[in-house]
Amino acid sequence: MELTRQELIRLLNAEGSEAEALRARADGCRRQWVGNKVYLRGLIEYSNVCRKNCLYCGIRKENTAVVRYTLSEDEVVAATRTAWREGYGSVVLQGGESVSPAHTATIEGLIRRINTLSAGELGITLSLGEQTEETYRRWFEAGAHRYLLRIESSGEGLYRSIHPADALHRYDSRREALRALRRVGYQVGTGVMIGLPGQTLENLADDLLFMRQQDIDMCGMGPYLEHAQTPLYTRRAELWLPEKRLAVALNMVALLRILMPQINIAATTALQAIDPAGREKALRAGANVVMPNLTPARYKADYKLYENKPVTEWPDIPEGEIGYGCRGDSVHFQQRTVGK
Ligand code: SF4
Repeated sequence: MELTRQELIRLLNAEGSEAEALRARADGCRRQWVGNKVYLRGLIEYSNVCRKNCLYCGIRKENTAVVRYTLSEDEVVAATRTAWREGYGSVVLQGGESVSPAHTATIEGLIRRINTLSAGELGITLSLGEQTEETYRRWFEAGAHRYLLRIESSGEGLYRSIHPADALHRYDSRREALRALRRVGYQVGTGVMIGLPGQTLENLADDLLFMRQQDIDMCGMGPYLEHAQTPLYTRRAELWLPEKRLAVALNMVALLRILMPQINIAATTALQAIDPAGREKALRAGANVVMPNLTPARYKADYKLYENKPVTEWPDIPEGEIGYGCRGDSVHFQQRTVGK
């Protein structure tokens, strides 16, 4: 579906009946192109140890108030067994960015164990930051097949304004990591934050066009939520009201579904932080994936990229629409790799 940049900008601001019509159109698009099922990904927050200092993030390295943890291999395997038993089609291993031979080997071993315990049937998504292409390849060869690396903002100027100006946080490196994931063969996901200080609707329209131009397979995006123990908190007076951030985020989901009808789009927890029904609203505006949190309870409080992270885990989806036991791979990925 073709939408011009001007149309995207206008529709991002849709309210009332216009917003309802937009989201209903996206909902119809989802049913037509990827079906009625909502796919479950059991989210395992593997570690809150991170080498980076993104200015918006609660678990940034310099936040000394955070109690750091890394799950043991057995804890990851136990959470995976829960996912398997409950009929989730996939797990997501997510964590702060760590780079070391030991970390690479640990993750590789975990991927193999997850594959063994589910006889290769559970889908495995990784979200472990920027790594070398060789590391991405090792994890892929061990059996992971999806990778989520959010660009956070596709505009270089805005990206720089929310990251430190040092070698660890380079915009070009992030773009290159996305290309490396694609070369290795993953289903590649990205996403952005919506309602950042200094962000405009023009920026968000460009984010949508970036995702289409990158031909991504999956997307996870949600409203920016400020965290008091971060540098970006000093700019909170510039923020849109939470209701507006949510409304624009739902319009982003709807527009992305219309632009890229066959990709997977997650209804993220950040939506729920603003509105208890935020994820369900996203599922009726084009999203088709939810990620219930399977992190062991005693660690959940320490994995806070933003404040007021909700604890309710189970989305309100009609039973018949849940894709139990289905991996729910990206139809877009299947289409673009046909015959390759
Ligand atoms: S956003 Fe990710 S990479 Fe940046 S500090 Fe937080 S966990 Fe680390």
